[in-house]
Amino acid sequence: MPQESAAPYGLTPTADLAGRTLFPHRHLLAISQLKPWEIRFLLDEAEHWVAVNRSSAQKHDGRLAGLTQINAFFENSTRTLLSFEIAGKRLGADVVNMHAATSSVKKGETLIDTAVTLNAMRADVIVIRHGSSGAVQLIADKVDCPVLNAGDGWHEHPTQALLDALTIRRRKGGFEGLIVTICGDVLHSRVARSNMLCLAALGAQVRVAAPATLTPAAVDCMGAVATTDFDAALDGADVVMMLRLQNERMDGAFIPSPREYHMLYGLTPERLAKAKPDALVMHPGPMNRGVEITSGVADDPDRSAITEQVEMGVAVRMACLDVLTRSARNIEGWA
Ligand code: ASP
Repeated sequence: MPQESAAPYGLTPTADLAGRTLFPHRHLLAISQLKPWEIRFLLDEAEHWVAVNRSSAQKHDGRLAGLTQINAFFENSTRTLLSFEIAGKRLGADVVNMHAATSSVKKGETLIDTAVTLNAMRADVIVIRHGSSGAVQLIADKVDCPVLNAGDGWHEHPTQALLDALTIRRRKGGFEGLIVTICGDVLHSRVARSNMLCLAALGAQVRVAAPATLTPAAVDCMGAVATTDFDAALDGADVVMMLRLQNERMDGAFIPSPREYHMLYGLTPERLAKAKPDALVMHPGPMNRGVEITSGVADDPDRSAITEQVEMGVAVRMACLDVLTRSARNIEGWA
């Protein structure tokens, strides 16, 4: 029985009177703010875009025509920025990229002033990456349009977790009972935080393997179990997700040396043999080959899903841009 739709951006609606699912968030800031059905809803929406992107030479959809999408990146990015740009363009939006290196941020402008400036330009959707945890939420609170978090400090990278979940769901068929091992610099990784929350919410068993110095304190609060023993964490794993050492976020030495780190936490073909025979290897990129992962694993077409993750990234970002701009486009039923 369809439920009545709730207030604009309310917290509870599951479907409108016609039975269509509504997404009850104005922004996409963190996986921690999503319920399992909301995650599944975004994954289902993304499936449509995977099919469109694969099937047609003419990928332009046009549903965001006339809307302005600003990608405000205060930190470096290759995959995420390109993928949001391609996603917006395929949906027909006017996409503008703002790079912090050439913006007034370098001249001392505060984050709130930048937010007010972006808002005055009447963007219809803003995608933000920032080096400080919580900065994207701060901007979201100051602007009138939906905001998507493209990574904020150590905090969260929700679209990365969604694209990883989509990749896993397509390859493994679901999450219940699946063992996912995340290994690397978990402490500084927003990808790890979003993935732990997302995969645990979807029913996977999440293991985290890292040196004690790179393991956050509250891993169990994010639905995962931590160990320093990578080999033990690999035992029986269905998915192995590797993370790079985030040297730019390290203040001091967290590991004795990259060589020793590789010996204990590098994913080699020999080590991968401890996981299930069909275990999937993932990495959000950029990879540091020879440190956290060897080329023999990263380039193994039977095991590595790394390029597929990039493909799923475009589809997931198309889904998120589409869903979050539905009310701006006056789609019936979207408050
Ligand atoms: N690209 C991912 C991020 O922005 C992972 C990384 O940089 O290591 O967090």
